[in-house]
Amino acid sequence: MASRDLRVLLEGHAFCPRFVAFGASLKALKTAVSLGFCRVGSWPKRVDKVLQEFGWTSPNPLCWWHASEGSIDLVSDNIDQIMHKVRNSWRRLRWISFLNKGRRDSAVLAHFGFNISRYKLAAKAFQVGDNHDRAVLTGAANSSALYQVVIDGQTKVGCDWCHRSDVVSSWRHLGWECPFFADTRPCGDFDLLQQRLGWPSGGASNADAAALRHLAAVRSTVLASTPLRIPPEGADLPEDDC
Ligand SMILES: [Zn+2]
Repeated sequence: MASRDLRVLLEGHAFCPRFVAFGASLKALKTAVSLGFCRVGSWPKRVDKVLQEFGWTSPNPLCWWHASEGSIDLVSDNIDQIMHKVRNSWRRLRWISFLNKGRRDSAVLAHFGFNISRYKLAAKAFQVGDNHDRAVLTGAANSSALYQVVIDGQTKVGCDWCHRSDVVSSWRHLGWECPFFADTRPCGDFDLLQQRLGWPSGGASNADAAALRHLAAVRSTVLASTPLRIPPEGADLPEDDC
């Protein structure tokens, strides 16, 4: 199924009501602090609690530190600089949450730390892509092997697409090995993040686009072949664990 964390991440912070509300509270607190109010009390404590969730620690009142984003000082720093760092920490949290979900794709990508450049490219692809692109980018592209598990309760050995008897029709096989899908498969070196989720690498833009377009085409073909009734885009789908 789609990773909720990836979907929220790629949709962007502006579509996360909780983050929007927190951002408004943080900006208002900054204004109050600048006017000499609210330097202690429940409001700063609630802000601190959320920032801790995002990975920040507070060595001093109204100051926070993050291992990747550095420091913010609510008294002296510009609010735009503060929000930029806080947004990035929220994005990192979403990625870490995805990796910690115990999904097969998150296990495959366990050694991929959050990369802001890759994220920006993936978010742009998500914004301009169709439903199949978005499904790939968020881990919702299911393999034939996954559908076998859903329908029959187990995965069989053998690929119905290329008719090889010694392979399982996993997402990796269909996307990057199966001769049946060779026509749309681009040549080139693609890392696991691109092979699995189609996240652009930032290399040649045509290769990035071709890789995602190929995976979306595979997803479209596999989906059309399944007798399952697929919930509409955005609904919770069974996780692709194959
Ligand atoms: Zn095959």
